[in-house]
Amino acid sequence: MKTPPSFIKKYFTDEEIKELQMREILHEEECKGILIVRLMHDYKDFLRGTVFYEEGFIPGYPRIMRVLHLGNGIKRYFNEGFYVEEKVDGYNVRIARIDEVPIALTRGGFICPFTTDRIPDLIDMNFFNKYPEYVIGGEIVGPNNPYNTEFIPYIKEDVVLLSFDLFEKTRRRLNPEERYKILEDFNIKQVRRWGPFSLLDIEEIKKIVLELDRNGREGIVIKPLTIGKPIKYVTLSSCLRDLQATANLITELPAGFYMQRILRTIFFCYEFDITLDDRYLLDFSKALCITPQKVIEEVAEGGDIREFFEIKVRNEDAITSLMEHLKRSGIKTKLLSSERIDNFYSAKFQRIYTEGTKEIRQRLMGHGFFD
Ligand code: ATP
Repeated sequence: MKTPPSFIKKYFTDEEIKELQMREILHEEECKGILIVRLMHDYKDFLRGTVFYEEGFIPGYPRIMRVLHLGNGIKRYFNEGFYVEEKVDGYNVRIARIDEVPIALTRGGFICPFTTDRIPDLIDMNFFNKYPEYVIGGEIVGPNNPYNTEFIPYIKEDVVLLSFDLFEKTRRRLNPEERYKILEDFNIKQVRRWGPFSLLDIEEIKKIVLELDRNGREGIVIKPLTIGKPIKYVTLSSCLRDLQATANLITELPAGFYMQRILRTIFFCYEFDITLDDRYLLDFSKALCITPQKVIEEVAEGGDIREFFEIKVRNEDAITSLMEHLKRSGIKTKLLSSERIDNFYSAKFQRIYTEGTKEIRQRLMGHGFFD
């Protein structure tokens, strides 16, 4: 077993390091001349995705509890004031500086070559001159990202960072009002927000949710003014969009993914007193049955399950690094083209779902299985 870098000893005892190694929870990576070690699972009081390096560490991003009944969820978890923020749909990043180098980490603690390359387009780089020890948490949203293909109605091209968190590397989290102010000072884009509210404002918050629902938005995250944990709640339309966006990946996703969307749908309808119309029901069942049926036909004709991506980067080598990063994460890709357009490099690639394709092929060939 390889000895991890000595800086890990600042956080764990020799016994703990041995255990972490046995369980293969510590992963080492070198990027831009920086050696980092990421934590693959929660351990002690460090979260999955925590990244350790010579001078310190960047905390993992905490999970957010979901509620299915909005009104009762608010009453249960809040007694002081709170803000309502829009929950936007993209992928989670933490942007921070390690050894003066700005990097963007994925939820799992990987340095994302794409996001890291685009940091100058996402934030004002002067931010880290004033706040070198801060970490910006946010979502990368937009059609030209390398991970998600879900259609986002409000960002038409490329990607943007919509920030929703700010914390110190010591893990001290800034409260919403401190964060809004600091990020505004640097013109760093933030998610939309409403408030502050109190428990007397639940009806108003429900109106916001209905408005978001009508506009094809994902939902809300409710955050306490000072102490306490946030909760998340999603719209009815987001459940349908999730199904539509993943309809061709039906063999890739766990059954629970579908059950969760059904539960969210029926709880939403119950609380908001909504009767699902035929149009919604038709779209729902189309997403569950019609698109997957097309996938089977494609595989039967010799094709495989694929998704297409188009991204732009500042440095050409970010494309190669991204392909390697996806490969290391167990994702098979094929680069289709890469060309220089103005000051950027534009790359098109496919993600190929080999396992899902194999499963469908075997079923089509009559292989039996136990379920
Ligand atoms: P979780 O990490 O909470 O268990 P998850 O990774 O499956 O769940 P979601 O269910 O989509 O993700 O919800 C949590 C994620 O929502 C956060 O990790 C964050 O990336 C994203 N998000 C979008 N908007 C916000 C916001 N305003 N505040 C906090 N998180 C937000």
